[in-house]
Amino acid sequence: MDEREVVLVTGGSGLVGQAISNYWKNRENDEFCQKHIFLFLNRAACDLTNFEAVNKCIKSFGVKKIIHLAAKVGGVKANTDFVADFFDENILINTNVLRAAHQNNIETVVSLLSTCVYPDAEYVQYPLKEEMLHLGPPHQSNFGYAYAKRMLEVQSRAYKQQHGRNYICAIPTNIYGENDNFDLDNGHVIPAVIRKVYEAKLNGTVPVFWGDGNPLRQFTYSLDVAECLIRLLENPNIDLSNIGTNEEVSIKDVVDLVAKNLDYSGPIEWDKTKPSGQYKKPSLSTKVQCHYTPLTKGLKLTCEWFVKNYPNVRGMNNV
Ligand code: NDP
Repeated sequence: MDEREVVLVTGGSGLVGQAISNYWKNRENDEFCQKHIFLFLNRAACDLTNFEAVNKCIKSFGVKKIIHLAAKVGGVKANTDFVADFFDENILINTNVLRAAHQNNIETVVSLLSTCVYPDAEYVQYPLKEEMLHLGPPHQSNFGYAYAKRMLEVQSRAYKQQHGRNYICAIPTNIYGENDNFDLDNGHVIPAVIRKVYEAKLNGTVPVFWGDGNPLRQFTYSLDVAECLIRLLENPNIDLSNIGTNEEVSIKDVVDLVAKNLDYSGPIEWDKTKPSGQYKKPSLSTKVQCHYTPLTKGLKLTCEWFVKNYPNVRGMNNV
């Protein structure tokens, strides 16, 4: 009989879910991975907005621990146009997951927030630290998503206080890697840059990027986020932790690195009539000790994966 404990990963078809799957399959020397079976859920397997479905899934698979990644995510436009949907659906998903976990006596749930749910720049000083999470309103453009994510932290803490559960949250920087969403409207910086540069090379056009490329961001390779989450699952004694690399890189440097990896030496256009975005918003990660892959190496691996899989990558339906 298989005596390994079952870890359920919600959002298992996403960027981070797939990274956990790869990490788990390729870490023969990781004692925690050897003692656990990971089950990866997508929406078709279990719609997390439906409490009965979540409850049934946890019960029928004999789940012992949960990594909760699933969320309704989107770009600025979607977050603004459908702000109520982002709040509503995320609150529902998170409540269903935590409530079903508690009712099924699951001791440990590690959930992911995002640095974009921190207070807006005028309310806090950089770098962003965990104790600042509730010190002011988030940016107006995504307040529905941000408050729903903040409530996930509140709800996790409440379960811990009232029921002694190890329900904890981590706040990652920007994440990138294989299996990302390459949708140009809803995707994040790195997948959008990779797709734009690659398609410009294929079509003989010029890739155009918004702003001046000077803003600084922190980018963490998805396999490293997977490792951090597994370490937190193993030692769930940290209530809230920033995770990811503390290194800041300009968007322009990312574009140059991607162009180099994709062998694109043509022109690149910066549309300065469009906003550049906030100059910087660094967070400080000190609590979880993980290995962080240098951006040069992570980008090389991600670009190689993209070229090999294009056009069969997520997010290709929106052109
Ligand atoms: P993705 O967008 O790649 O994947 C989202 C996942 O959530 C998919 O597996 C999707 O399933 C699932 N999902 C969405 N709605 C439902 C639902 N109603 N029921 C069941 N499953 C659902 O996410 P990432 O891997 O990029 O992100 C994981 C987490 O990390 C999220 O919580 C996100 O907020 C956070 N995060 C991500 C960052 C990033 O740069 N990517 C940065 C900071 C935080 P399906 O594929 O079937 O639709």
